[in-house]
Amino acid sequence: MLGFGTELNNYSRSLIRILYPPYCVLCHAYLKLEETYLCAPCVQLIQPLKAPLCLKCSEPLPPYGKNQSVCSTCRSERPYYNRGFALLRYEDPIKTIFHQVKFQKKLWLLEIFSKLIASFSSSINPNDYEMIVPVPLDARRERERGFNQALLIAKMLERSFQKDRLRISALIAKKKKVLPQSQLKRRERLENLEGAFCLKKRGQSLGKRILLVDDIVTTGSTINECAKILKEDGAECVDFFVLARS
Ligand SMILES: [Zn+2]
Ligand SMILES: [Zn+2]
Repeated sequence: MLGFGTELNNYSRSLIRILYPPYCVLCHAYLKLEETYLCAPCVQLIQPLKAPLCLKCSEPLPPYGKNQSVCSTCRSERPYYNRGFALLRYEDPIKTIFHQVKFQKKLWLLEIFSKLIASFSSSINPNDYEMIVPVPLDARRERERGFNQALLIAKMLERSFQKDRLRISALIAKKKKVLPQSQLKRRERLENLEGAFCLKKRGQSLGKRILLVDDIVTTGSTINECAKILKEDGAECVDFFVLARS
């Protein structure tokens, strides 16, 4: 039986919906009362990455390929991070939602991914980590944009772990603006990132097991550079978590 509070809640919700009819952020269809941000058919388009994935970086592996567990890039480039988790492929319609978050500042749309984030956090052992570290933006970019989406995702993750011990520690700062990594060759990417990140204080990650968090991973160089400085500071283990990978 519904309580009075719930009935009132549904009533005021319906009233708000009549006054301000909401649309699906992807196909602009009218939303039903029980739908938020996306209509039911568009929700179906948000599909998590499926196995087989590279055990180190979550890059999808060819389904009937050789019996490999680590992708060729991870084998040849030997990244500093221990392993990475990615929930989605960075392509439409995910891309459209990300663009609305980033460029139209619709931060609340990140809630679309909250169920996926919750199922990720329940699938891993929160005791595996002692810190969540968001990948920073450079100060100017963050001022212009008004937010760092990596930090917002880190906060969603922190909430979904529901574990007081696992807190966000913004250990890393970004010192300089870098060129978009995806248009550069490997050597240029490394040069581009040289000295881009630094630790706010030395020794904070000594012996710690860290989960680095970003919104999107493209080439992996940024994540790897952050993992490198944490490892050089003495971190025992650095894994990463991203919402999407391209
Ligand atoms: Zn839709
Ligand atoms: Zn890999």
